[in-house]
Amino acid sequence: MSITLDLTRTTPAPRSPVNLAGLTRPDLRQAMIDGGICPPEKARMRASQVWRWIHHYGVTDFALMSDVAKDTRAKLAETFTLARPEIVERQVSKDGTRKWLIRTAPGIEVEAVYIPDVGRAGALCVSSQVGCTLNCTFCHTGTQKLVRNLTTAEIVAQVQVARDDLEEWPSPSEDRRLSNIVFMGMGEPLYNLDAVSDAIDIISDPEGISLSRRRITVSTSGVVPQLEPLGTRTQAMLAISLHATNDALRDVLVPLNKKYPLDQLMAGIRAYPGLSNARRVTFEYVMLKGVNDSPAEARALVRLIDGLPAKVNLIPFNPWPGTDYECSDWKTIETFAAILNKAGFASPIRTPRGRDILAACGQLKSESEKLRASAVRKAEQATVEAA
Ligand code: SAH
Ligand code: SF4
Repeated sequence: MSITLDLTRTTPAPRSPVNLAGLTRPDLRQAMIDGGICPPEKARMRASQVWRWIHHYGVTDFALMSDVAKDTRAKLAETFTLARPEIVERQVSKDGTRKWLIRTAPGIEVEAVYIPDVGRAGALCVSSQVGCTLNCTFCHTGTQKLVRNLTTAEIVAQVQVARDDLEEWPSPSEDRRLSNIVFMGMGEPLYNLDAVSDAIDIISDPEGISLSRRRITVSTSGVVPQLEPLGTRTQAMLAISLHATNDALRDVLVPLNKKYPLDQLMAGIRAYPGLSNARRVTFEYVMLKGVNDSPAEARALVRLIDGLPAKVNLIPFNPWPGTDYECSDWKTIETFAAILNKAGFASPIRTPRGRDILAACGQLKSESEKLRASAVRKAEQATVEAA
């Protein structure tokens, strides 16, 4: 039985109304012209008004757009939607981390995680795909099949859902709880660059959610040909999931390394547009006991990134059922960090957050995938019975 097949069947019909929250400014303008909402010469102004209601005020009801003519509001409501996706589950960890399981379409569920006290005030970790095609051996998401790329609307919706819950509408100019966005949820963002880059355009727009591009970080396992386009199109901060300092080990931990080995990856990073001391690349390094955590490897890491404006995030491994890996001992992690620090690289150890609600790095989607699969089986059975 193929779950993927079943999901294809449940993909929403193309006739479902377009959600305006997922359109970039130029696309919003075009959609309003094509939908007969306004003539082309008025489109820029009308689209700006509507944009502000959607992305600054966060409204989900066209009727609230008080500076838009009544008949225009009615036409908008007939043609388009601003509905939020369904929140299947909301969990709050002991440490304040919040996780939402969001159903964006039948059979398509994604998770977003808000982590307080990260970045300037709090970071939202968003997903770019449902599942992942890359099989990093220490990552739970990697053991799950890719269902599909998320659309721009589905990425933006994760931010909107978080802001609804944090009560951050209209967009506050200061004292925000959601101050940073990291593309470190499920999936490989550089395999979905078009949607990721459009979503970044939307959430960084100064007349909307207005998150600075310097507070948006995209994490990749190393899709080298897409690094330059990412930097040029998004000006986002770059994070690289490194995890090993030699090809033999990285081939095992991050199998994509066989396609883009370390020398190519490092060259791609050095050429990343806009890299500077103020805009450093982050290397993520998961600490795996007895695998990649020796002092010799810390020194090899220093040699590898020598001369780069960089910092290193050491991530204690988050275990999941069925994995053979273990997290390094705390002392080992501290020794590793000390070697990097001495060489001049900031190397914070990432405190695991939200482990009790399976919201920590690499734990995403595991439970919900199982739930979804059983829900799909039920739906399949119901279809068979009804036939
Ligand atoms: N696919 C992208 C972004 C999502 S993964 C990437 O790989 O960069 C986000 C981060 O979580 C990556 O650095 C990843 O290596 C790390 N990670 C995955 N599984 C983990 C686990 N079990 N414990 C700790 N970190 C993990
Ligand atoms: Fe995919 Fe990133 Fe997990 Fe690797 S670490 S399997 S690229 S989500």
